[in-house]
Amino acid sequence: MSLVYDFSATDGSDADLLGGKGAGLARMTSLGLPVPPGFTIPTDVCRAVMLTGETPEGLWPEVAEAMTRLESQTGRSLGGGPVPLLVSVRSGAEVSMPGTMDTVLNIGINDDVVSILADWSGDDHFAWDVYRRFVQMYANVVLGLEEKLFQKVLADLRTFRGVGHDADLTAADLERATRLFQSIVKDHHPDGIPADPVEQVKGAISAVFRSWNSDRAISYRRINRIRSEMGTAATVQMMVFGDLGDSSGTGVCFTRDPATGARLSYGDYLPRAQGEDVVAGIRNTLSLDDLGELHPGCHRELIEIMEKLEEHYRDMCDIEFTIEKDHLYILQTRPGKRTAAAAVRLAVAMHGEGLIDKPTAVSRVEPSSLEQLHRPRVSGSVRRSAALLRGVAASPGAASGHVVFDAESAVERAKAGVPVILVTPATAPDDIHGMSAAAGILTSQGGKTSHAAVVARGMGKPAVTGAATLVVDLESSTASASGTEIAEGDILTIDGTSGAVYLGTIDLVEPEQLPELDTLLGWADEIRSIGVRANADTAEDAALSRRRGAAGIGLARTEHMFMGERLEVVRTIILSSEPEARTRAMDTLERLQVGDFEGLLEAMDGLPVVVRLLDPPLHEFLPSRFELEREMLRRVRAGIAIDDLRKMSDQVAIWEETNPMLGLRGVRLGLMLGNLYRMQARAAVSALVRRIEAGGDPHLEIMIPLVSDVEELSRMRVMIEEEIAAAAADTGLELTVPVGTMIELPRAALTAAAIAAQADFFSFGTNDLTQMTYGLSRDDAEGLFLREYLETGVFTSDPFQTLDQAGVGRLVKVATEEGKEANPNLVVGLCGEHGGDPESISFVAALGLDYVSCSPPRIEGARLAAAQAAINGRV
Ligand code: ADP
Ligand code: MG
Ligand code: MG
Repeated sequence: MSLVYDFSATDGSDADLLGGKGAGLARMTSLGLPVPPGFTIPTDVCRAVMLTGETPEGLWPEVAEAMTRLESQTGRSLGGGPVPLLVSVRSGAEVSMPGTMDTVLNIGINDDVVSILADWSGDDHFAWDVYRRFVQMYANVVLGLEEKLFQKVLADLRTFRGVGHDADLTAADLERATRLFQSIVKDHHPDGIPADPVEQVKGAISAVFRSWNSDRAISYRRINRIRSEMGTAATVQMMVFGDLGDSSGTGVCFTRDPATGARLSYGDYLPRAQGEDVVAGIRNTLSLDDLGELHPGCHRELIEIMEKLEEHYRDMCDIEFTIEKDHLYILQTRPGKRTAAAAVRLAVAMHGEGLIDKPTAVSRVEPSSLEQLHRPRVSGSVRRSAALLRGVAASPGAASGHVVFDAESAVERAKAGVPVILVTPATAPDDIHGMSAAAGILTSQGGKTSHAAVVARGMGKPAVTGAATLVVDLESSTASASGTEIAEGDILTIDGTSGAVYLGTIDLVEPEQLPELDTLLGWADEIRSIGVRANADTAEDAALSRRRGAAGIGLARTEHMFMGERLEVVRTIILSSEPEARTRAMDTLERLQVGDFEGLLEAMDGLPVVVRLLDPPLHEFLPSRFELEREMLRRVRAGIAIDDLRKMSDQVAIWEETNPMLGLRGVRLGLMLGNLYRMQARAAVSALVRRIEAGGDPHLEIMIPLVSDVEELSRMRVMIEEEIAAAAADTGLELTVPVGTMIELPRAALTAAAIAAQADFFSFGTNDLTQMTYGLSRDDAEGLFLREYLETGVFTSDPFQTLDQAGVGRLVKVATEEGKEANPNLVVGLCGEHGGDPESISFVAALGLDYVSCSPPRIEGARLAAAQAAINGRV
């Protein structure tokens, strides 16, 4: 393998090798853009280091050679004059993981070079700013010293000088800071920082590789489901200086508005600054228009480059740039992170502009992000003037929650089910888990490209940043805004769409549907082959599902219809010793169910509705014995008779099970309490008849849960067909009702051929199938060990979120193949939670399933994921 790639040596098409950053720099170099020269050490070196613990032989000599080449390309010298060569060492994986890995700037400086730099620039302040930044970053990233040790020194100096920003310290202050930093380093590492620039580069490259496995990188990958084997590249690049006097600065821009997708240039610029200063949100930034006033030439050039990059990548780009003494340099580009709404608008707009075709447009939007589009907004009736304060509208949507001032409290409170708003001056990569737990984020500093803004948009969370009137005091965990005190636990509502922040809870409403979303999903529907149905139990859910594009109901759970005030009726059916009371209760329940089913069939008129007969274990419907006994005790004390309760308790005891999930449920209950299933079938068929008589076009299907043996299904089928035949004879109507089964037990999957002979359709109940295949109970496992398994990597993904392809998936495959072979007309679907998961959809589409069925909020995402599966050639 090659160990070093100069920017000018490749066209930057292989991001898996060079990392996104390295590939982008090579690509922009080949496009002739003003990119400071450099080279990239590819990701396979990082992988080798992870595997063996050592850097591959030959790496350091090649790096030293590349550094010599860089000297001749730049006309600058390592460790000497007249112009010293300083470099950055930057991390960058194939997928962007902003801010989670490390970068070291200003490498190559030492006690000699700092004076050469001062001579060259004629600016002592600059030279010492470069040096102190280097020592600070190197000590932190390479030597692992805590950042706050250095922040403290700077804070003391600022106080001493009476200034607000590091940039306002004097050259002498910065020299002093550098020396203090160096002595802090010596306290921990007696050898200090190496003076030799090549040694510095080596240390930084090793640190960049190590940062792949830093806690925050690992946690970012877990949240974003990024593979951990990938590894990062390391890029070495000549430094350009945004902190070289007033005619220099640094910035970040987007080729479109990343929040709305609108076509306008959008960005932040900070004069006299370097590197992270913009993203860290330390000072409030200027806009691109301001940049146009300050540096008209650079501004014009930047706009041209933005257009060129967008045309080249055919996507919205996020660009880092630096101006050094009125010269513009481009330091990074990548597809910009965007909100779901912006992604949808961008994809449709770019197709309209002829930049991309439909499949590309469909591939541009992350399916699971579509749920964000239905997030509530602040109602239009709320007066803007009611806002407590106003900041930058950094990430759209609104959220109310209790104020917390740090990531840990956010996680803790959110775990207890309390929605929280994280309020802080600025966020940093270490806050990721807190941001992930929060309902919304509010910062007093930073612009639209600050860490808080970028990460919140990526997570699809509302954020307001740069709220200048907000003063946050982290020491005392309080904040204030225009005289109003805000304490931990107070309720705020933030509106990331307008930038307004309100005290207390504010009315939120469902947003209007984006017209572009319908366009995009229309394209997805043309492309996909697998159908999408809904899991819906009520007429309202059915109607909502239909609006979201579901082609029917794949799972209507009837047990929900047994709960609430109907529970008493159900208990009578099961427990009463009087046959008449049982019959009366059964009639009541039947009438109620007919109404339920009618509602579903009406909402889905013309489309299939799969009604699943009662599934859950019996104990969910019965009173607990413990409670019965307590009640008996109470009555005894009050001198009231307890005969009825005693009888009931005895009845309940008969049905008691140690492991109800593996017990008398589903079809087993159907066979044991034959009347119950018969009643449900009769109710469903009556609803069908009523809908036909009302002039509708109902398509009822009846599904039997938890079948393990074909005989269970055969017997149920006979009974259901008797009911259909009776209704047909009564009404003279021709009634067609397909009867099928869930496949949710391994035995059912393995005997699918036999079962298929008795079934019109299969539907994989992958929640139970996963539990039964793994031999664990999801609810228990979750807290006891599953989370731990995921954190320590025993399992690489949660099998209840993404279908386990090797095991459970294999059962799905076998059952589909053998089922369809035995019964060519067999329709096969999936109705577990995996039906809304893009990766699982792609997998089962490839197996030839006819449809997936998922909850209403995930239907649109499933349509998109199904199309993407087709585009990626899996189907
Ligand atoms: P991240 O991936 O966290 O953005 P980067 O490698 O992009 O890390 O670098 C961090 C900051 O340093 C960015 O603002 C970048 O523009 C700046 N930077 C990196 N290399 C150079 C360089 N050679 N000259 C000037 N600034 C640089
Ligand atoms: Mg960057
Ligand atoms: Mg089940």
